[in-house]
Amino acid sequence: MTGMSTSKLLEAAKNHLVYVTDRPAVVMQRGEGMYLFDTEGKRYLDFVGGWAVTALGHCPIVLVEALKEQAEILVNCSPAFFNTGMIAFAELLVRHSCFDQVWFGNTGAEVNEAAIKMARKYGALHKKGAYEIITTDHSFHGRTLAMMSATGKPQWASLFEPKAAGFTHVPFNDLPAIQKAISDKTIAIMLEPIQGEGGVNIADEGYMKGIRRLCDEQKILLIVDEVQTGLGRCGTLFAYQQYGIEPDIMTLAKGIGAGYPLAAVLAKEKVCCFAAGDHGGTYGGNSLGMAVGIAVVEEIIKRDLSAYAVKMGDYIKAKLNAEASRFKLTGIRGRGLLLAFDLPKEAGKEIVGKALGKGLLLNSPQPASIRLMPPLIVEKEHVDEMIRILKSTLEEVLP
Ligand code: PMP
Repeated sequence: MTGMSTSKLLEAAKNHLVYVTDRPAVVMQRGEGMYLFDTEGKRYLDFVGGWAVTALGHCPIVLVEALKEQAEILVNCSPAFFNTGMIAFAELLVRHSCFDQVWFGNTGAEVNEAAIKMARKYGALHKKGAYEIITTDHSFHGRTLAMMSATGKPQWASLFEPKAAGFTHVPFNDLPAIQKAISDKTIAIMLEPIQGEGGVNIADEGYMKGIRRLCDEQKILLIVDEVQTGLGRCGTLFAYQQYGIEPDIMTLAKGIGAGYPLAAVLAKEKVCCFAAGDHGGTYGGNSLGMAVGIAVVEEIIKRDLSAYAVKMGDYIKAKLNAEASRFKLTGIRGRGLLLAFDLPKEAGKEIVGKALGKGLLLNSPQPASIRLMPPLIVEKEHVDEMIRILKSTLEEVLP
């Protein structure tokens, strides 16, 4: 494959890869820090960060060393045994959060499924079989069948029928709507503290506190999906910590492996009610993943990248604000390094495409918005380079 020309590679991709999304006509080959390089040697400044994944940049030394060292010791002893890594990593995550126990998985959707199963089991044991989960409009929880039902993406409403049952959707940041939706079948409310795919929509403090109060009153569970917001991205290790509340269950993925597929569901002890055989997975808690996770999370904590994300996020917002009136950019928002802004027209796709041509990776989560989710190691010079390319792109698209 390495000897093939880019055009041959693209032809092979068209012939042999299942089509699931439109991808630009480039083939990525190498990553280093804030940059990706394609097969033509072209360099891209990465403000997508593997989709809020590469928290430490591409191929960070701590991840590479953890992989190399652990690969020679033990990769996967099977989920039927404890291994030293899973015990150490669970202890590390519990020590830095409000939770008591951890189950490890591989992807965001997988741990969200685990969270739902845990909540339903809790309902079966403690709430007369209540099973329904309330989620929010424009939320994103993953692409398995059940998570497509949980997700509040309007485009998915009619896909892959019949839907997994037991999910009710309510508008985001609307406490009375949740209150109205709660029934004797409800067992949990599940939401992202900041909706990522929905366009970086931040939950109000009163809303989160109100949900916690409702959950306590009604004896139902609060599940936070921190797959995108977790691990320092939003300015604290976990975004829930900014709301003065403690959820019952939290899910993590993306940043926890900094590029390596790794995920976790964390829960309060009272909710950890699985019996033997209720849940599992061949790769959950494998030694290789645990070594990566420990190295990544320790690095994020040691370098205080949460605080650094706030500082750099403020710098990016100031730079965007300086260009706002010229290009009619509105709604410059976000916490830490999960940021977005709105465009005066539905030009997101065009801007992403043109910026790619100029060597900058951006994301458009909604037709008229741009999202920035760079690695947490981004420096001012990268921001200045991003702004320069963004400006030249906006000049073409929004003259
Ligand atoms: N939850 C949230 C909040 C996400 O942003 C995503 C991915 N964008 C997922 C779940 C799904 O994660 P994965 O793709 O790892 O299954």
